[in-house]
Amino acid sequence: QADRDLLLSHVRDIPDWPQPGVTFKDITPLLRDPAGFATTVRLLSEAAVGHDVTSVVGIEARGFILGAPVAYHLDAGFVPVRKEGKLPAETSSASYALEYGQATIEVHRDAFMPGERVLIIDDVLATGGTVRATVDLVRAAGAEVVAVSVLMELGFLRGREKLADVPVSALLSL
Ligand code: 5GP
Repeated sequence: QADRDLLLSHVRDIPDWPQPGVTFKDITPLLRDPAGFATTVRLLSEAAVGHDVTSVVGIEARGFILGAPVAYHLDAGFVPVRKEGKLPAETSSASYALEYGQATIEVHRDAFMPGERVLIIDDVLATGGTVRATVDLVRAAGAEVVAVSVLMELGFLRGREKLADVPVSALLSL
């Protein structure tokens, strides 16, 4: 509970961003706080316990900031899932619906060795489309998704309902 309060105290609400009616959860105050950042990385890593994780996937862009230190902490490798057109080698891609329009994310086709066991990391689980597409992409690339770990879940958006086939843990549920 003390850990949870520490994290929560460093997340701020930005009203009407990126568009009117949306309240954005800004995690930059948490990232710049040494104890907050260290606690976040430690707790996100706990989702890997007992799963023999070999690879951590971070979702662009805040998933990179959190996923890379988690990978280091676990002695695992790090694999970036990026927005369309950013990765230089051969990619696989997955598209998903946003509230308005759609988005495409990509991963390198050779990012995983056979038998690789993956932990997916992102900052916020909102409608769940981004993590859903990432799970599908990692599986299509031949790796096993053993867990998803996010800093914050926006429960009222019901993202978890799209992720019934994979263990999802959230440090904060709002
Ligand atoms: P979803 O696909 O679950 O609707 O949206 C999740 C993605 O959008 C995540 O990659 C996350 O970084 C970003 N996102 C959506 N809402 C927020 C928010 O309120 N705060 C932050 N930090 N990221 C958000």
